[in-house]
Amino acid sequence: MNLLVVGSVALDSVKSPFGSVEEVVGGSATYFSTSASYYTDLALVAVIGDDFPQAALDDLDQRGVDLEGLIRHPGKTFRWRGEYGFDLNEAHTLETHLNVFETFNPVLPEVYRKSEFVFLGNIDPELQLRVLDQIDSPRFVGADTMNFWIRGKREVLQKVLSRIDMLFVNDAEARELTGESNIVKAAAAIRQMGPTRVAIKRGEYGALLFDGDTVFFAPAYPLEEVFDPTGAGDSFAGGFMGYVARRRSVENAVLCQATVVGSVMASFCVERFSLERVRTLNPEVIGRRFEQFQRLMHYDPLDPLET
Ligand code: AMP
Repeated sequence: MNLLVVGSVALDSVKSPFGSVEEVVGGSATYFSTSASYYTDLALVAVIGDDFPQAALDDLDQRGVDLEGLIRHPGKTFRWRGEYGFDLNEAHTLETHLNVFETFNPVLPEVYRKSEFVFLGNIDPELQLRVLDQIDSPRFVGADTMNFWIRGKREVLQKVLSRIDMLFVNDAEARELTGESNIVKAAAAIRQMGPTRVAIKRGEYGALLFDGDTVFFAPAYPLEEVFDPTGAGDSFAGGFMGYVARRRSVENAVLCQATVVGSVMASFCVERFSLERVRTLNPEVIGRRFEQFQRLMHYDPLDPLET
């Protein structure tokens, strides 16, 4: 398997200043897989309850996501309830119900153990470790986490950090994880914990990639209509890791391109609630936004003091 993801598959209830939805399909692994599926084949490891809609599974299956590692258990699917104010960069968690994730013990199908590219999506770091333990010799492991786990499971999270190649976090999480308010210092502190690369996502202010002694920045596409930022981080990671797995390279030039791919995919995600926008894209629509991005980021080389 080219790319493997473990993470949450959820039913989300979300309120933003532009509307609200109840129990819609969400979850870190769901957004990640949908976004990555435009770039590569991948396999998803997670658990759902008996109340998860079959249509959402059919959709993942049809886009080539291997679901052998997605287990259905009797009980309720993971649920998350969150709210955004006018500052859409900050999600306020109102409820987290782990439900079937509380007793989930992932056992990877044999073919998954040879995965080269792995993404440990936002979920209990103990589960992230258990999945990682079952993979023979991954080439590149990325991971995400959030304040819920930074506060609740810091020690296990440190173990995860010591075994990954790249961490994807937003700026508030980077600050909380390290106690550093300056983002550059926070990135350096995270790299001391293990991962040699860090992506720091800053919502509408873009994303920074720290790799070796270089820093790369991709803006967020300036959209007129943003409905729901839920899943933007996972769509970013899905585009990033999907592109890296497609190119089969982790050299700096590819990681910089992957940061732009991530920003493009996140820009689609926030235009609608749930997966509505990310799941209905096609190569032409994605290509057009890449061109717009290129124009957004381009300027001719200049000598500012030329006379
Ligand atoms: P983000 O890309 O950061 O906006 O992630 C949004 C997704 O994370 C939502 O669809 C939620 O279902 C999921 N989520 C929220 N809290 C947790 C948690 N504690 N563990 C795993 N997934 C979560």
